Amino acid sequence: MLKIAAYHSPTTLIEAAALLAEDGRTAIAGGTDLLVNPRYMVGVREVVDIRRLGLNYIRVENGWLYIGAGATMRTVAQRVELQGLANGILARGAAVCGSPNIRNMATLAGNIASALPSADTPPALLALDAEVVLVGMRGERVVPLDSFFVGPAKSVRERDLIRELRIPLAGSNALRGGFYKIGRTAEDISMVNAAATLKIQDGKISMARLVLGAVAPVPLRVSRAEEALVGQAATEETFQRVAEIVRDEVRPITDHRATAEYRRRISAVATVRALRQAAGLATPGEEWQHA
Ligand SMILES: Cc1cc2nc3c(=O)[nH]c(=O)nc-3n(C[C@H](O)[C@H](O)[C@H](O)COP(=O)(O)OP(=O)(O)OC[C@H]3O[C@@H](n4cnc5c(N)ncnc54)[C@H](O)[C@@H]3O)c2cc1C
Repeated sequence: MLKIAAYHSPTTLIEAAALLAEDGRTAIAGGTDLLVNPRYMVGVREVVDIRRLGLNYIRVENGWLYIGAGATMRTVAQRVELQGLANGILARGAAVCGSPNIRNMATLAGNIASALPSADTPPALLALDAEVVLVGMRGERVVPLDSFFVGPAKSVRERDLIRELRIPLAGSNALRGGFYKIGRTAEDISMVNAAATLKIQDGKISMARLVLGAVAPVPLRVSRAEEALVGQAATEETFQRVAEIVRDEVRPITDHRATAEYRRRISAVATVRALRQAAGLATPGEEWQHA
């Protein structure tokens, strides 16, 4: 358990950014990672609570969907705006993040800030072309999520606060999505997860995003697979072919959850199931999680 020497509860972003500029301080949102994960035990002495900053919102405005840093996994899983976006892939990712107790506290922004390759929501957010809005002493900057993660538990965030995540909605009516998580139990971190978005015109795929989690140092967008999907018929045969590309491209590790070889094999399974969902070909019983 983290030993905390001081607790700060700012009410403005300027105050929060100034507090976080000091060494030994870190943001706390739900605390579900920060308070229990051993990697924070060294170096973190003071916490800066972000829950009084007024960031507990999800709203649609000017063609974007904004998710404030205070929004919990439970809220993200339940909101209609997210359930209706690309077959609800982000809502589905949030709905399988830990147990109900965890989802009541854990935030979407905390899941991104932790930058763990096995996290459940980055693949869906990447497949939706999300961006991260950061605030710090140098002001505000917007980073495409595609260039946010740089390694396990490492991102370009530095000391900045994630104020919100935003998803472009232009053309999203035509976007179909799929998400599939494979874990040891229903409440465990993923051994592998996969998210896909497709646009399909006259039976042929005109746009594809395919992102896998827990198979590389960062959530992995499999560009070779995306290229192989475009122009092809949205069929089982195409998806099986693409799954072989994914199997070649992933760079998993062996840890206490799974061996690298097992992860490589199930990355193909998760890929096919996410793509089938996106194409409307999923069969009952292979909805969105396997434990
Ligand atoms: C039992 C258990 C099960 C879990 N299961 C899953 C799972 O199935 N899938 C999964 O993906 N994760 C899982 N997790 C991990 C964790 O719940 C998630 O990563 C969660 O989304 C973290 O959010 P939080 O608000 O609790 O973050 P916190 O714990 O408060 O913070 C985590 C990190 O993010 C930083 N941070 C938080 N908010 C911000 C912000 N707005 N700006 C800048 N930095 C910020 C903190 O400084 C800290 O470094 C599990 C954890 C536990 C304890």
